[in-house]
Amino acid sequence: MSTFDLQKTLSSPAGPNPKEVRVRFAPSPTGHLHVGGARTHLFNWLYAKHTGGKLILRIEDTDTVRSTRESERMVIHDIASINLMPDEGVEQGGPFAPYRQSERQPLFKALAYRLLDEGKAFRCFCSDKMIEEKALAAKAAGKLPHYDGSCTFLSKDEGDKRVAAGEKFSIRMIAPQKDYTVHDLLRGDVHFKTGMVGDFVVLRSNGMPVYNFSVVVDDYFMRISHVIRGEDHLSNTIRQVMISEAFGWEVPKFAHISMILGTDKRKLSKREGASSVTDYLNNGYLPEALVNFLCLLGWSPHEGMKEVLPIQTIIDNFEIEKLSRSPAVFDDDKLAWMNGEYIKAMDVKELAQRIKPFVERAGYNPDIRGEEWFLGVLATVRGSLRTLTEIGPHLEIYYADKFGFENDAKAMLATDDAKKVVQCFRDEVVKNKGVNNEQDLTTIQNTVKEKTGIKGKTLFMSIRASVTGKQHGPELKLVLPLLGVDETLRRIDASLSL
Ligand code: GLU
Repeated sequence: MSTFDLQKTLSSPAGPNPKEVRVRFAPSPTGHLHVGGARTHLFNWLYAKHTGGKLILRIEDTDTVRSTRESERMVIHDIASINLMPDEGVEQGGPFAPYRQSERQPLFKALAYRLLDEGKAFRCFCSDKMIEEKALAAKAAGKLPHYDGSCTFLSKDEGDKRVAAGEKFSIRMIAPQKDYTVHDLLRGDVHFKTGMVGDFVVLRSNGMPVYNFSVVVDDYFMRISHVIRGEDHLSNTIRQVMISEAFGWEVPKFAHISMILGTDKRKLSKREGASSVTDYLNNGYLPEALVNFLCLLGWSPHEGMKEVLPIQTIIDNFEIEKLSRSPAVFDDDKLAWMNGEYIKAMDVKELAQRIKPFVERAGYNPDIRGEEWFLGVLATVRGSLRTLTEIGPHLEIYYADKFGFENDAKAMLATDDAKKVVQCFRDEVVKNKGVNNEQDLTTIQNTVKEKTGIKGKTLFMSIRASVTGKQHGPELKLVLPLLGVDETLRRIDASLSL
């Protein structure tokens, strides 16, 4: 655990440095990384890579009820599992450590008291319950649920007395009543009318800062230049700008990225089912494919560019201003398609390493006949996969203990023509000592055709059904050499005695 040096932090240069891009992803750790959070992290990562800047992973764990260390570990692990490592963070360390907000409490406290000393904030002795009741009453009367000012003008003496009597207080900032305009790199000028925000708490009575306060303080002292985050935070920006203004600090540049919707047009975060990075990886999605897909939720390639792109191309072409302002749609089908494209294009040895756990999970031993054999098998089935989890059924034909005849294959094999073909095929396979390559199969099939006078679909499908038990599957010229002569003959015999 890095210890926090308040004096050093307060006396070090702070605020955005025009010469350096520093962005951050600032999750509140409350579970696995959701794909929406992963997209926010990714856009920050892309911008840092594009500009040669730095990405900071800051853990916003000041909500002690909801944040856990276990969740923090999960988020850090999820980010690593999609290969989007930050430059600075809880694990990496860095010049602005600690990167966990709960360890920076003295800073928030010192700054909240600075506002208090400067008369920009006041001690508020109202309990949460009282505030809630007053807000409800205001709402019922058709007014905005702003703080009613009970403690705003308490004298210092009165306040001191209540503190001495053991009363707890929060520090509440006086919200300046004027119009604000915030520039957003994606949305242009965003206007906030006067009166939208009432006096708000910056430091809770338990000594913890509220999100709007700690985020501004840390962004300033960590020298964040650009805040790239979800559109749902746009409404928070006004309070954050008020706080920066109270301290006389320069604000970072803001970019609020669009929401992600499901194909049902509901907000993705509200839908059930697989929605965390871990879920997708466990369900057989490749990190590269997931990342490529997430890029397209807001960023678009130039005209004429493909959508399946190396990450370096995306980095090179990434511009915040060009991100889409309208909601992005998370289309699971498109993700599955893209994943399939990655599976097809991946180096087969690499694919073998990645898919082995899924093969084992499906009940198959990938090492049963050696590495070359497994690579051969994989080459024949990978074209049919959209996710790694789909591998199981495709392996059936290659494993003696899983082999069986499907009903339509059985029906086909029951015909006289099929029996003739299969018997003749058997004889030729024996003569040839197996089907060892494509040429063998062509020659044998031609001989069978000549000898039986049967050709076309009946010829090919009978052979396929007898050796694979199915009517469809990978090319036989690839399957038969992988089966080997003994297994091929065993299946032919089984098919003849159906
Ligand atoms: N902790 C906030 C969240 O998880 C961060 C928001 C921000 O990026 O400012 O939503």
